[in-house]
Amino acid sequence: MKKGEMLTGFKTMFKHPYRRAAEWKRITGKKVIGCVPMYFPDEMVHAAGALPVALFGSGEPISHADAHLMTNACDQVRSTFDSLLKGHYDFMDGVAALHVCDQVRFFIEVWQLDRPFPFFHQMWRPFKMDGSTRPFLLKELERLKSSLEKLTGNQITPQALRESIESYNESRLLIRAMNDIRSRRPGILGAADTARIIAAGMLMPIEENITLMKQLISVLEREAIDGSERTRIVVAGHPCAVPDADLLDMLENYGLSVIDDDLFSGGRRCATDVILENDPVEALADSYMNALPCTTHHFPSAWMKSGDDHSPYSDHVIEMVRKGNAEAVVILRMMYCDPFDLEFVFLKKRLEEEGIPFLPLVTQHGPVPLESLRTRVQAFAERLKTHL
Ligand code: SF4
Repeated sequence: MKKGEMLTGFKTMFKHPYRRAAEWKRITGKKVIGCVPMYFPDEMVHAAGALPVALFGSGEPISHADAHLMTNACDQVRSTFDSLLKGHYDFMDGVAALHVCDQVRFFIEVWQLDRPFPFFHQMWRPFKMDGSTRPFLLKELERLKSSLEKLTGNQITPQALRESIESYNESRLLIRAMNDIRSRRPGILGAADTARIIAAGMLMPIEENITLMKQLISVLEREAIDGSERTRIVVAGHPCAVPDADLLDMLENYGLSVIDDDLFSGGRRCATDVILENDPVEALADSYMNALPCTTHHFPSAWMKSGDDHSPYSDHVIEMVRKGNAEAVVILRMMYCDPFDLEFVFLKKRLEEEGIPFLPLVTQHGPVPLESLRTRVQAFAERLKTHL
């Protein structure tokens, strides 16, 4: 298969996010669980014989959700709830969410009261990640395991969970391989395509995703690229939602090449594996404990002390820049995303201290009005070209 055909396939899948899951359910007769982004342990759902599907909402205008949620709820939450009210999730057997932020917690509670599903699982993740909270996280994973076993009638054996973790680790390895090609050969794969490929992987059975990713990587390795000079950048932000494709295309049309990112539909999805040593549930708990710094959780080293504005998340972004030999950062600030907005203050300060040029862009749900951003992106790209 050619690269263009493969990318069109991923694009179509992302355009109709739940079509494949509905078809899978029809064919297999098994359960489909909608998982609110992000960080839900898909491996556990898979090990129960069900299909975990990420709930990204849709690109449709938000027409129903505002009657139910506060209008200053973030767009990811509003779009997801809008999709629910429009019936896009009707075929699903249940909903599961990890409380990554207050907005998710709030809208999930409204959802449960408004439109209860037969299976509705809310998982708590400690905000403080250290040894003192690990037992609680383990209990939460065990509670999820029991709920899924009850729903599906399948016992999640250590062996089944181990195999599921291995499959997801393989998928993460393949995403890393794809990202590595993108970093080594800027221009080989656009940022919008990369985000759609990774997001599509969360909408289909993991086994299919592994097959497709292997094919794609082999196609990319053989593909020639134009040798034009491009400015290497990192994209950070958008904790849960997939960024607008036209916006990402616009960045690249001005000669910027995204060589790494911190997106959930990007580098964050594949950054760390679940290390299987002994008990697989413990391995899942440890993967949360050892996760990358994120705007939605805090590690002991991140606690602010008086006069100390150390920010592990900012350090992580700066490390991506240095490691990828990038020249600048574009920061996508999803409107009303409180966790990211709070961290943005530190990120901005740290990038200034390090002398790394950055461009913050406020984004919203669905197609972003590009005209208002075009001049700023163009000026930023030109400034980089002139000064580098
Ligand atoms: S992390 Fe941000 S974008 Fe994600 S649900 Fe919470 S507020 Fe919304």
